[in-house]
Amino acid sequence: MLSLGTLRAVAILAVAIAASVLVGGCTQRTEGVLVYSARNEQLIKPLFDLYTQQTGIPVRFVTDDAGPLIERLGAEGADTTADVLMTVDAGELWYAAERDLLKPIDSPILKANIPEHFRDPGNRWFGLSVRARTIVYSTERVKPEDLSTYEALADPRWKGKVCLRTSKKVYNQSLVAMLISEHGEQQTETIVRGWVNNLATNVFSNDVLLMEAIAAGQCDVGIVNTYYFGRLLRDQPELPVRLFWPDQQGQGVHVNISGAGVTKYSRHEAAATKLLEWLSEPKAQALFAGENMEYPANPAIKADPAVLAWGDFKHSEKNIAQAGALQADAVRLMDRVGYK
Ligand code: FE
Repeated sequence: MLSLGTLRAVAILAVAIAASVLVGGCTQRTEGVLVYSARNEQLIKPLFDLYTQQTGIPVRFVTDDAGPLIERLGAEGADTTADVLMTVDAGELWYAAERDLLKPIDSPILKANIPEHFRDPGNRWFGLSVRARTIVYSTERVKPEDLSTYEALADPRWKGKVCLRTSKKVYNQSLVAMLISEHGEQQTETIVRGWVNNLATNVFSNDVLLMEAIAAGQCDVGIVNTYYFGRLLRDQPELPVRLFWPDQQGQGVHVNISGAGVTKYSRHEAAATKLLEWLSEPKAQALFAGENMEYPANPAIKADPAVLAWGDFKHSEKNIAQAGALQADAVRLMDRVGYK
């Protein structure tokens, strides 16, 4: 299913062609780019519209969850018309690359703009925005001094006080995968088993419900993506829930990326690469991250003031490709300890 963006893009292309006729007297056709996107339409459409405005290159997109998009890309094989795959978790990009659905892009611009730990060592995908998956706590029942690391949430002192989102969500699979890469499987299993033992209630289907449960007194601490906290607090600034940055003496906060790669069979590799490069540049970075209260992946750009207000923190600089490489292990581990 194509979005309304298509119609708009076509209209813009028509205008661009008409303009080139008027100015240059010739119609040099600009080929568009098709993006398969797991990132929501409302977050990508303003960016793509701006790109088309600035370059005359139309961007069409199809949105769905990453799983179905990757399956579709696989089924279409060499016949695909998709040029770019965009997802909201490095694990999914890693998986697409592992399935040989993405092609290496040798771009000095992307290498310069995106830190090494936020892109594929094989150059098949690149982070474009960064989200931290961090601890949230009740300001009514918890002092920040009571908190320290992800691991410490496994301590019996938190018995009956922890809320978690479902282990089915890729964000938690990536978090556990990164814990495995840091602590090894055995120690991570002890940690995650501790979390499950400390659960106050059944796992939640999303991060917002989890924070609302903390606010309602159902539990005291949990783990969420920062932008969900940002959106919720924007609507309810009085909510007695705050972020805590764990592991500041160790590896640092677990972060993940929303990012993209060029499809293996893209017929518009140059145009697709150009789009990714444009998205890594300052103006697009500020918008890409800002629309969703995320951190820009390009360290030269500051986050939105509302995001910066949550304070500075050290984040883990382990390559986020590990989230994919260890994801199957993470899923099995969570299954073993009964994390639903
Ligand atoms: Fe999300």
